[in-house]
Order: sequence, then C-alpha cells, then structure tokens
Amino acid sequence: MFSIDHDLHCHTHLSGCSNDPEQTPENLLAFATAHGYAAMAFTDHFWDAPAVPGSEGTYLDGCGLEHVSADLPLPDGGPVRLVFGCETELSSARVLGLAPEHCDRFGFIVIPPNHFHMTGFVRPAECATAERRAELLVSRLETVLGMSLPWEKVGIAHLNCGLMFADGDLGAVLRAVPEDRFRDAMRGFAERGAGIELNMASFDANRRRGVSPEDALRLFRFARDEGCRFYLASDAHHPAGLELVPGIASEIVDALDLDARHVYRLPEP
Ligand SMILES: [Zn+2]
Ligand SMILES: [Zn+2]
Repeated sequence: MFSIDHDLHCHTHLSGCSNDPEQTPENLLAFATAHGYAAMAFTDHFWDAPAVPGSEGTYLDGCGLEHVSADLPLPDGGPVRLVFGCETELSSARVLGLAPEHCDRFGFIVIPPNHFHMTGFVRPAECATAERRAELLVSRLETVLGMSLPWEKVGIAHLNCGLMFADGDLGAVLRAVPEDRFRDAMRGFAERGAGIELNMASFDANRRRGVSPEDALRLFRFARDEGCRFYLASDAHHPAGLELVPGIASEIVDALDLDARHVYRLPEP
C-alpha cells in the first residue's frame, strides 16, 4: 500500500499567499497528529536573497532565509516528523533561488518547474501557446537535472499545476509534453533519488476546471514507469486545504496504481 501518512508541501502564514494567522506550525502539526501522519514538511515560498539576487519586485521579494526561518525552531512533533523545507523558484534565466551553501538549512527542497503565470520572472512572454508551454516545462526539468543538488531531499512540485496555463487549455499543455524527453527527465530524477510530487490542490483544481482524468494523470504515469518515487502534498495555504490529502489522495494513488514501492521517503536527518 501507498501510505496516506504525510504531507510534504504546505505553506505556513509566512508565505505571502497564505498570510493566514491560523496557518501556524502548531495548527499544522495538530492536523498531522490527528491524521496519524509520519511526516509533514513546511515549504514556504523562498528566494535566497541576497545570496542569490533576482527576486526584487517579484512575489518572492522579502522571502529570504531570515523570513522563512522566523518560526524556528519548530515544535516537537512527537510521532510526526516535522521538517523545515522550502518551495523555491527557478527563474526564466534558469537561476535557482537557493544558494548551494544554504541547502543544509532545509530538510526538504521543493522545486516548482511551472509557475508559468509569472510572466517574465518565470515564463518568457513569447512562450504563450500550449505547445510552447509544454516544451518549456520539459526544458526546465532538463535544466534542473543538470544542477548539483542534494537530490535525496529534493521534490519536483506539481507537474500538472493549473498555473501552467491559468487562462487557457491546461489539458492541451499536458498532452503536448513530449513523451520521450519527459520520460528521460523522469528517469534522471529517479536515478538521483528525488521525489515527484502528487499535489492534491492541483488534482482538485484540474477536476474543477474540467481537465480529463487521463490528462491530469498522463505525466505521472510516465514518471511511475521510469522508476520515480512519489510524495503527497496538500499545498495548503489555509487550514481547509490540508483536508485534500486525506480527502482525495487515495483516489489518485489508486488511479496511478501505486504501492509501497513507489513511496518517496525523506532521508534520515
Ligand atoms: Zn507552487
Ligand atoms: Zn506551494
């Protein structure tokens, strides 16, 4: 069985798009404890300025190390392993918002390849069609693969994220992702030991948008076939968002035919 016992991508009040006073480490831990989780990672939006310049004027302005560390040390999770992580960013110039010397600060590093609603900062404006966006996704994954990273604690976020084409045909983007190159990239992540994220907020939003289940699952089937391991994520910005993991994760896991062999686990501290 693929255990529904973790949430490795959620946001605290420290993320600007949360800014919810209820989204405290204590409240998040209480949810994890109540649901018998083995692990939960807090992954606030992060750009490592001033070590890595480039976030000025973006949604990550002011989201440096000091900011995301404001709630440290985290409470003792007891049976729940609480992990201080981050969701960093990859710019359109292919700069990762995490300095190598600061990787040790984080127990889990989530890399989102497809925040394409950020025109300019993440997506070059000329990459506008579904085909161009699909190509952009693959080439950005290839860029990430070429980086020197502590791979065993890296997660590749929300490959079917609606932000890839917020005002267009997301299903067309997902269908246009070139299979061969995508499979090669997934095999690379599998070999490196990275985790591939099953983002419940994305699956839920896709369903509401009318994206077909096959389109929503397409890239993950390739990833599974190439030997990837997966982790569950709510991507919650508010308490209600946490419910998505116990709510719908088992459906997704069943649809992908995942079992215990497919579970990504964080390395021991
Ligand atoms: Zn994201
Ligand atoms: Zn997120």
